Amino acid sequence: MAVPKQKKSRSKSRSRNAQNIKFARPNVQGCVNCGTPVRPHHVCEECGYFKDSPVLPADGYSEYPENE
Ligand SMILES: [Zn+2]
Repeated sequence: MAVPKQKKSRSKSRSRNAQNIKFARPNVQGCVNCGTPVRPHHVCEECGYFKDSPVLPADGYSEYPENE
């Protein structure tokens, strides 16, 4: 079996392994109602839906029906 002649430096190893890093991305799912990308456990800002039911007016967070 071929054996490396010299130990690879920490820098060399890490720069090689850096090619395989997966960058953290925010988890995104499609809204059930309109298909807009929405983070899990968050209300859709486009249509105001959360888990198959409307919880906000379609405009977004600005107007709540109770506060009128
Ligand atoms: Zn939606």
